[in-house]
Amino acid sequence: MIRSVKAGMLLALLLMAGCGVTLSEEQMALHENFERTYEPAQIGNLEALPNVEVIDGVTYVDGILIVNKEISLPPDYAPGLQPEVVAAYQQMFQDGAARGLDFVLVSDFRSYDYQAQLYSNYVARDGQEAADQYSAKPGHSEHQTGLAIDVGSADSATTLKVSFGDTPEFQWMKDVAHEYGFIIRYLEGKEDITGYMYEPWHLRYVGEEAEAIYESGLTLEEYLGID
Ligand SMILES: [Zn+2]
Repeated sequence: MIRSVKAGMLLALLLMAGCGVTLSEEQMALHENFERTYEPAQIGNLEALPNVEVIDGVTYVDGILIVNKEISLPPDYAPGLQPEVVAAYQQMFQDGAARGLDFVLVSDFRSYDYQAQLYSNYVARDGQEAADQYSAKPGHSEHQTGLAIDVGSADSATTLKVSFGDTPEFQWMKDVAHEYGFIIRYLEGKEDITGYMYEPWHLRYVGEEAEAIYESGLTLEEYLGID
């Protein structure tokens, strides 16, 4: 994907250069060669360019709603937990139960105001620098999208802890969550990209694209080409 984004950008630059600007012979040759060589892939490459849309203050990249440390949601955005997410996690929990696994839903939708309260409590307790590692500023929480959940196991000692990653629930979930439309949003070793510590419990619903994201091993930002 990253490679095709670059090819798409080159194409876009060449096309821009073609708009009313005189090209040198060398550029012309490159342009023609590029078109001749890559013509069949042009549409695909153009589609691979990150398409960023902001609708009523909500940002979508290639149709996927995105919230992170830089991109926020409006305070009044309060969709509640989305029905497709409810169906997906219930099915996953049920399939897990059939394997003797015991999942619990720890948290789901959070409003802007509730996140504001949580964040200020964490800052008061641990200081802002520490709080920013594990908590989002209001408007920046994925939980406000109605597309994110935190899951836990019957072993409540691991709730919202990295040790959840050692539970049988996580060991099964990490390789099947995408089949239900979820990705593990804050991956281990990707803290510098996501801005968050590893959170094995935090799932983000993306639907059908979850499989491709899982297979890529990339964070959502990298996958969408906005890292
Ligand atoms: Zn979470």
